[in-house]
Amino acid sequence: MCRVRHNEQQTTGNALAHHREIYAIRYATHTGRQPHQNYLTPDIHNEGTDLDYFVWLIRGGDGDILVDTGFNAIAASERARALMVNPADALKNFGVSPDSIRDVVITHLHYDHAGNLDRFPKARFHLHDREMRFATGRCMCHGLLRHPFSVEDVTLMVRHVYSDRVVFHDGDAEIAPGVTLHHIGGHSDGLQVVRVETERGPVVLASDAAHYYANMQRKNPFPIVYNIGDMMDGWNTLERLAGHPDRVIPGHDPLVRELYPRVAGIADAVALHKAPMRSFVEKDANKRS
Ligand SMILES: [Zn+2]
Ligand SMILES: [Zn+2]
Repeated sequence: MCRVRHNEQQTTGNALAHHREIYAIRYATHTGRQPHQNYLTPDIHNEGTDLDYFVWLIRGGDGDILVDTGFNAIAASERARALMVNPADALKNFGVSPDSIRDVVITHLHYDHAGNLDRFPKARFHLHDREMRFATGRCMCHGLLRHPFSVEDVTLMVRHVYSDRVVFHDGDAEIAPGVTLHHIGGHSDGLQVVRVETERGPVVLASDAAHYYANMQRKNPFPIVYNIGDMMDGWNTLERLAGHPDRVIPGHDPLVRELYPRVAGIADAVALHKAPMRSFVEKDANKRS
């Protein structure tokens, strides 16, 4: 609890000027998953939860920032995922044209986070050094490790490097006031998460550093993992960056859409800068009492 108060105090100063809004936009889903697809070591508590796919729109400040770019209809059909809307088109519900996006954070280069790179003609892409190295290096000689990547997406990102449209990061980086990137690794070697100052304190978009809340809470990794130690350390880093478990947003959990308020008039979008309907911490405290 001390840490929570500490962080709330932190955000009442200068950071107030940099408070952002964050919207999670679900663009696809995958149903019928078995427990072993979601947990490295499934047990009787694990269910075959659906996997939702999101991009995240950060609003406020000098311009909108998009976190990840999702996949398109071709990738959806190749991988038998149910695409509801192309993420670039979903932005139009917010009155945002893909042409107006100047900054896109790519948390990592897996197909469900780094497709549609041709849909944002004026954007620069924020990528971690290690992710490009991983996605184009010797690890991609292994089918298991390259399976979540699309060679078309990775190639397009290389093309963007050659046209001065990629900003590489190595460690912590502030890309706009109140918006910082942090390397976690684990799931993919160069995975970075995004910390955003909001009215309820810093919110951390974990992307695939945690697919589900339960991966973190049960200390049970999602089975697509490059370095298990980095992934498990990453859960502690997420909580440290956020200052409170309720401010960590997993990358694929359908619970996110139940916990956060819907955005009026926009299907499949929730507001992450608002308080969740219930707290995981209170739930745990009640259990103990
Ligand atoms: Zn991934
Ligand atoms: Zn993913």
